[in-house]
Amino acid sequence: MSRFWSPLVNDLVPYVPGEQPKMANLVKLNTNENPFGPSPKVIEAIKAELNDGLRLYPDPEGEALRETIARYHGVVPEQVFLGNGSDEVLAHIFYGLFQHGEPILFPDVTYSFYPVYCGLYKIEGKPVPLTDSFEIDPEDYRQPNGGVIFPNPNAPTGRYLPLEQVESILQANPDRVVVVDEAYVDFGGESAITLVDQYPNLLVSQTLSKARSLAGLRVGFAVGHRDLIEALNRVKNSFNSYPLDRLALAGAKAAYEDEAWFRKSCDGVITERERVTKALENMGFEVLPSKANFVFARHKEQSGEALAKSLREQGIIVRHFNKPRISEFLRITIGTAEQNDALIRGLASL
Ligand SMILES: *Cc1c(COP(=O)(O)O)cnc(C)c1O
Repeated sequence: MSRFWSPLVNDLVPYVPGEQPKMANLVKLNTNENPFGPSPKVIEAIKAELNDGLRLYPDPEGEALRETIARYHGVVPEQVFLGNGSDEVLAHIFYGLFQHGEPILFPDVTYSFYPVYCGLYKIEGKPVPLTDSFEIDPEDYRQPNGGVIFPNPNAPTGRYLPLEQVESILQANPDRVVVVDEAYVDFGGESAITLVDQYPNLLVSQTLSKARSLAGLRVGFAVGHRDLIEALNRVKNSFNSYPLDRLALAGAKAAYEDEAWFRKSCDGVITERERVTKALENMGFEVLPSKANFVFARHKEQSGEALAKSLREQGIIVRHFNKPRISEFLRITIGTAEQNDALIRGLASL
């Protein structure tokens, strides 16, 4: 605490990102980055931007990228909002669409940034318990609220909610915005973007950090009805006119122009996910069915905390959450075949 702080800073409980260790040669399976790397076309596009043009501000509206994303998803550019990572998009959503004096609903086990934004903007958050099998039950979202948000697939469980069930949440909340955070949708799920023209209360957010392997570039976006996008633009233009720099705009656009690379990388993750799942099951783990680029697993006998610690001693980092309901689980990012082999060997030795 300091007398220089705005009083509200005393109460902030910030998000704690997964560790980015400085040590080399670690098997880093803790922050759901893509092991396969971005398309070479992305690197070329960024290099082409490294010139005198950097003295000029970037396009504040990111028009070329919005057109590319709109075309890719079969919507119009006015339905696309860009942000500096989807975390920034989510922050603007909380500020611009979730302040209605009623609690917003999200699963009790979910992305831990949601309660952080609630704290930042003084929005009441109401955690809705997942079922015993860690699934979202749409029936639980039929209650008064100021908005609804959940990742699909959910994080850190990896469980996917079929689109019919997403629709039943949308239908139960026609007067509130329902946000589907699709950070992991490309690893086997179906995007709800196909529903945005049918549901004016639906907003879908996605990121280039996971499936497109660009966590370091910081690009995310939301797709929805133009009225929702207009709210986000008002917030953004009251905060930072240039959230995406020239390199990010160029690199992100190129990522959408290399569909073959994208497919190959997602397929690679899915194949490895199925192999890691079987190997873990053979070692006595219960693995939740995952449609993400990670698995969430607990061992029948060994504690999650002890396993995470022993793996770390072998130079393998996974994520362990010391939280109710999930403290026995490990969240393990799917890596390259070699990294996954190291993980399986490491666990077998325990
Ligand atoms: C990784 C992640 C994000 C944030 O992605 P960025 O675009 O890198 O900010 C958002 N939501 C969920 C559920 C995530 O796991």
